[in-house]
Amino acid sequence: MKLAHHLHLYQPRGNDIYTARINEECYKPLSKNKVLENVSFDIGPTLVDWLYVNDKNTLSKIIRSDKGQAMAQSYNHRLLPLARYDMDVDTQIIWGLKHFEKYFSRKPKGMWLPETATSKRVLEKLTSHGIEYTIGADNQNAKSSDTSKVFEIELPSKKKINYFFYNKLSGPIAHNSEMWQGSDLTYLANADYALEKIVQETKDDFILLAYDGETFGHHHKFADMWIEHFPKSAKKKGFDTVLISSVNGEFKEKGYVWDDSAWSCKCGGLVRWTEGCSCAGAEMDYKKQLLSAAEHQEDLVHEIFENKAGKLLVDPWSARNDYIDLSLKNLSWQEFISKHFKNKPSRTAQGKVLDLLKAEYHTQLSFTSCGWFFENIHPQTKNNILDMQKAAFFIKRGVGKDISSGVKGVEWMLEHVS
Ligand SMILES: [Zn+2]
Repeated sequence: MKLAHHLHLYQPRGNDIYTARINEECYKPLSKNKVLENVSFDIGPTLVDWLYVNDKNTLSKIIRSDKGQAMAQSYNHRLLPLARYDMDVDTQIIWGLKHFEKYFSRKPKGMWLPETATSKRVLEKLTSHGIEYTIGADNQNAKSSDTSKVFEIELPSKKKINYFFYNKLSGPIAHNSEMWQGSDLTYLANADYALEKIVQETKDDFILLAYDGETFGHHHKFADMWIEHFPKSAKKKGFDTVLISSVNGEFKEKGYVWDDSAWSCKCGGLVRWTEGCSCAGAEMDYKKQLLSAAEHQEDLVHEIFENKAGKLLVDPWSARNDYIDLSLKNLSWQEFISKHFKNKPSRTAQGKVLDLLKAEYHTQLSFTSCGWFFENIHPQTKNNILDMQKAAFFIKRGVGKDISSGVKGVEWMLEHVS
């Protein structure tokens, strides 16, 4: 029996103290002792940026763990099916790819979708950027409850993408549910114990278990040692620990995936992020209001960007895709100017375009899914509102327009951050 793990490593920006704690408890131990070499993983670009500033040593160990099994992630954990414009899906994917290539020095074959939120439109975009596979939850697998196959999804364009659906035991293991009543042993306390359960529950030839990376050492103390010792225990029990990148061609079957589905909303949609649902604890008014304010402002920023930057740039949207190259140091500002400006720009024109690009950048960040994830208004909700304020600031400074009425309508939420 072949057994694979996937770890999704991600922390939202804006809480350095918390991220530093998770780094000590989780990322640091996972980066050692070949833990990540034996699993597939993806790491959020914004988390990589944090590690680059705060713990280069751990970051370089994580990168060195990549033997081809690391997957990219779209840029800032925006739910791609909820992005209303194709160009925004493109930009999220392109920024994620450029970021991955910069740090991992290769092109990725797989891409993790934030919250595994998916749709055929998003999958078409992934394939158009050369992505060959992604991962979903068992409840996103349409027309089959089998998770032991690599499902080849044929898209409306006839292009194909491979889907790995993880086994439903992933949830109980990640939550460390007790296996038998009256027993003190839990999955994450003992790899043998979890393996026995796997043997009991399934006779599949191939099993993928996927979890938030933070399960190991942060959500559950010492579980970093569990994942470290897992391959050894698995081998003893006759399992073959594999990487999904190596089974990409095996166990293939034609498959289907539900549009607008995600791993942490089982309501059959993305309601957790659009209006709230029992998966998050309750239906909360703030979610709808925040989303509609962010979308309203996004429309304004896009319109101004296209009109104003469009006068100076050959193609403003292609320039936006390259904006990330400036912070990644793939392009100097002078190179960016020669590549994207129609004519040699004045200093004022340069400043205006930079402000407009920054407004676009913070608009993307204002859709980070964590702002809508919880039952109550959360520090991440605050971060999204701060990004909306920044975008409005750069529009005002760049072209003198006041677009802050939308964000002003949701600023009351800042007082309710728990
Ligand atoms: Zn739900």
